[in-house]
Amino acid sequence: MKLNINSKFIDYVAYFLITISIIFITLFVSNNKLILNFFNDAENKSFDYRQSLLVKHKHLKPNKDIVVLAIDDASYEYILEHYGEWPISRKVYADIINLIEKDSPKAIVFDLMFIKSFKNDLASDNLLANTMGKYNNIYTGINFDNESFDLRKPINLPDKMKANLEIQNKNINFKKVFRFTNCRAIIPQLLNNSTKVGMININRSNDGIIRTAPSFATYKNDYYPYLSLMVGNDIINNNHTNNYVINKKSTLKVGDLSIPLINTGECVLNWYGPAQQTYKNIPFYKLVKLSKGENISERYNFKNKVVFVGTTAQSLFDTKSVPIDKIYPGVEIHATYLNNIIDNSFIKKTTHGADTIIIISLILIITTIVFLSTSSIFAILSTTLVATAYYMTSYYVMKFFNLWIPDILPLFSILITFAISYLAKYLLKSRDFEHQYKLATTDGLTELYNHRYFQDTLRKQIETSKRYNQPFSLIIIDIDYFKKFNDSYGHQSGDAVLKGVAHILKRNTRATDFVCRYGGEEMSIILPYTDQKEAQANAERICKAVANHVFKLPNNVECNVTISLGVSTFPEDGDSPQTIIEKADKALYWAKEHGRNQVGKIDE
Ligand code: GH3
Ligand code: MG
Ligand code: MG
Repeated sequence: MKLNINSKFIDYVAYFLITISIIFITLFVSNNKLILNFFNDAENKSFDYRQSLLVKHKHLKPNKDIVVLAIDDASYEYILEHYGEWPISRKVYADIINLIEKDSPKAIVFDLMFIKSFKNDLASDNLLANTMGKYNNIYTGINFDNESFDLRKPINLPDKMKANLEIQNKNINFKKVFRFTNCRAIIPQLLNNSTKVGMININRSNDGIIRTAPSFATYKNDYYPYLSLMVGNDIINNNHTNNYVINKKSTLKVGDLSIPLINTGECVLNWYGPAQQTYKNIPFYKLVKLSKGENISERYNFKNKVVFVGTTAQSLFDTKSVPIDKIYPGVEIHATYLNNIIDNSFIKKTTHGADTIIIISLILIITTIVFLSTSSIFAILSTTLVATAYYMTSYYVMKFFNLWIPDILPLFSILITFAISYLAKYLLKSRDFEHQYKLATTDGLTELYNHRYFQDTLRKQIETSKRYNQPFSLIIIDIDYFKKFNDSYGHQSGDAVLKGVAHILKRNTRATDFVCRYGGEEMSIILPYTDQKEAQANAERICKAVANHVFKLPNNVECNVTISLGVSTFPEDGDSPQTIIEKADKALYWAKEHGRNQVGKIDE
């Protein structure tokens, strides 16, 4: 019984195996730390590009109630001119707070440390602390660090500053980045008078760009909320709650507010526009002038505004880079964070599981396209189309759903999958072609070339020999009394002998000779570059080899057969297929007539 495996079936198995291996390769790649870092960095750059495009198209509208009171270059000049030094006395801030509070702003948020100036004194420290305490909407920052205890003693922070945080998702780990052992000194009176002190630490990506902002820092095993998180919480929930929960879906919930977090406990910021062009920037010195009773041409009204106070002067702030801008002041990062809270526009990142599903689906799509497509152009075009569609999708899901789906690894998988499956398909196809060619040119029983191949080769050989003026010979073979053989031993035994004779013919000819099954129990050999004499000798040898061979039949019977042969040679015996074959046939007939088991002669 012959095992007949459908070649389509083999293709499907190959398709399946190749797809599985590509998936494994991709999963391996995406679990290798070094490679993963490379892809992460590239993915961050792709995120920056998407954000820049969105900002260019003014996708998010900045909140009109957020303003920045900026200690800009002009204010810095003014301060040096009028106070002789930076930082300025804490009394100045107290005056400005009182001035702004006249308009009933929603909040005043200091992204400043109130660093001690030479002109500072206890009275102005008390004044600032009391002023802050007087109003319920003044916020300021505290900066944690890991400085040595030799340098300063870690202070104890009042209980009222601590956040009541419950973490239900074990993947969220603040300790990776935001665990601190020390903290910068802050005016003690201020800590006593205000509860509205928020953490202002940040964490940059590998490439130094700030894409995320924290939600909490841990210090002495307690949690302290980020400055803008406190402000946003108070605005959204009207100061009603300090109970934060990070649920199983990694979302930070506090009252009506929810923020999607990544595993470091940070959130991914969604950007509104370039530095100093997004939020109304008011130069700090203008308010200093106003607070001193001087006249200025501008009119400011802070009613219901959230006023972020911070440095934007090049010489004052440590330059920060964000996805959409190389130089971006920290105070505007805080403003962006609050803006994201107010319009619930933080970027959500797909989970590792979702990313894996995306990549596996793309691999399946591309392998299917490549294996099913009948033309290379179609395969290339469809793959390009899938890649482009995916890339566009990644842009639009960020635009419409604030969702960050990965670009780089999926696009890379598409490319690699195309390359591998295309190559695999080509290899399968060429194997298929070889198989088809063999089927079309060989005889199934004897595995010799078939009659059609014999005819083609003979024609070509005549052409070649004519062109190069070289001889070639043809031997035609017929088994003797084969009808009788079949009758006595059975057809199956006849077949076995046919195979055996074919084998002997092959063994006794050169690799360049063509041994064919001419039809029935007749065979033929084309011998290129072989003259009459050589061919005759060759035929004699074959005749003897067959006669001397003992054939073993299926039922252990041994027997002998003989053959008769006829030889003809180009050009002397003819110069067309018909004449050459005729001459060889004639010689074969002679052999049969003269007793068989011999090579015939051409009688003229
Ligand atoms: P001779 O050539 O010596 O004159 O006698 P012969 O009996 O061989 O005569 P001929 O060549 O005319 O006979 C051809 C026989 O070969 C007829 C058929 O039974 C047998 N034959 C042809 N093809 C096959 C085959 O594929 N298998 C088997 N078993 N027999 C075949
Ligand atoms: Mg015959
Ligand atoms: Mg015969």
